[in-house]
Amino acid sequence: PSTIILQDLIRCINFAAIKHKDQRRKDPESTPYINHPIGVAHILLEEGGVSDLEVLEAALLHDTVEDTDTSFEEIEAMFGPRVCAIVREVTDDKTLPKATRKLLQAQKNKVLTLISGKFQIETAPKSSKEAKLVKMADKLYNLRDLRRCTPEGWTQPRVDEYFEWASKVIDGLRGTNKILEEKLDLVLKNKS
Ligand code: NDP
Ligand code: ZN
Repeated sequence: PSTIILQDLIRCINFAAIKHKDQRRKDPESTPYINHPIGVAHILLEEGGVSDLEVLEAALLHDTVEDTDTSFEEIEAMFGPRVCAIVREVTDDKTLPKATRKLLQAQKNKVLTLISGKFQIETAPKSSKEAKLVKMADKLYNLRDLRRCTPEGWTQPRVDEYFEWASKVIDGLRGTNKILEEKLDLVLKNKS
């Protein structure tokens, strides 16, 4: 690969790592959050055979706007309009202003979760191929993580509900990448 491609990729990993530096996953070990976006990009390349640099960069950045102070403008300036467009598509609930979402999140508001869950089911089938790929790899990572261990404070019915919801989102992503689809079906059926 050319030096420019490698530079771009490392710049992106570094950017995501800095943005997510204070965040942890919900597993009992509180794994550093950055393991997730790196893992999603890894699934796309190694399992899905996706080698489009901009899709891989969007995977690395997919939770930055949703979970950190990152803006779409910042992403566009650093990584260009195509990466920014994909990140926009995979970012939850664009209808509520960020400040409101933060407030609701802080209050652990169930309404917000329901709105955002419904939003993901509705937007999945209308997404671009690139966004569908990132969404598939994201779900695959999160479902595998849930099979690996139960997040702090979650009950078994909560885990089951997540699988039911994810299965509805996944239905809207089918016909995009055969291997990722097969692997999602395996994890949904608890066979991987
Ligand atoms: P949560 O935010 O509660 O948790 C799931 C999300 O947490 C994942 O999608 C993932 O998102 C992130 N995450 C962090 N650590 C882990 C980990 N170790 N394993 C798996 N995921 C992890 O759920 P959502 O707001 O995404 O809601 C999804 C759906 O679940 C809702 O639409 C609703 O139907 C249902 N729900 C049910 C509840 C109940 O009490 N029964 C309560 C809340 C939601 P990321 O990729 O962004 O890191
Ligand atoms: Zn994610």
